[in-house]
Amino acid sequence: MGEVEKTFIGGLHEKLAEDKIIDESHLEPNFAKEIVKHGGKDVMTCLQCGNCTGVCPISLKIDYKTRSIIKFCQFGLKKFTLEMRWVCATCYRCYEYCPADINPAEVMIALRHMAIKEGVIPPFIKLAATNLVEYGQSVKPDSEIERVRRELDLEDMPSRTRGYAKVVREINLLVRSTGYDRLIGIESEVRG
Ligand code: SF4
Ligand code: SF4
Repeated sequence: MGEVEKTFIGGLHEKLAEDKIIDESHLEPNFAKEIVKHGGKDVMTCLQCGNCTGVCPISLKIDYKTRSIIKFCQFGLKKFTLEMRWVCATCYRCYEYCPADINPAEVMIALRHMAIKEGVIPPFIKLAATNLVEYGQSVKPDSEIERVRRELDLEDMPSRTRGYAKVVREINLLVRSTGYDRLIGIESEVRG
């Protein structure tokens, strides 16, 4: 059998949780309850049917699938789950197809809350926050995005329009006054 290529968004590679040796010291028995406290539903009711992975646009691109993340939550693998390179677009497709009404999207949001509270901030989140204060959007504008927008006959990117500097100033003000910059660790990037 040939090797399965393991590529994460951004070309990152790492050993998957499935490949690691896991013993009792890795298990956090209250993890599922903590998720509920942070706004997620009870992952213990998940049927492991895999519908969420099947409809998830991100699961196609990364090794950690939606169903697997819910499974790790059921097991109590808190550290692995909070530190893994999960990405969720919060599109809520998984919610529409979940027979157990779990709403995996909100479990992902709860996991993000918990990760940030514990100081585990994935690099892509920091990058998105930095782009937000720099460009007013979480994705850095570039010529490729402009090319695709032209092809699709879309208007110029908002960041190219007049008056957008004011919008960016307001975003910076909000980021600073809400303490979001300190939470994410981007104080030095915020202007004003
Ligand atoms: S669709 Fe729902 S029940 Fe099925 S694996 Fe995903 S979270 Fe679990
Ligand atoms: S909300 Fe997240 S986990 Fe659910 S389908 Fe969308 S990207 Fe996948």
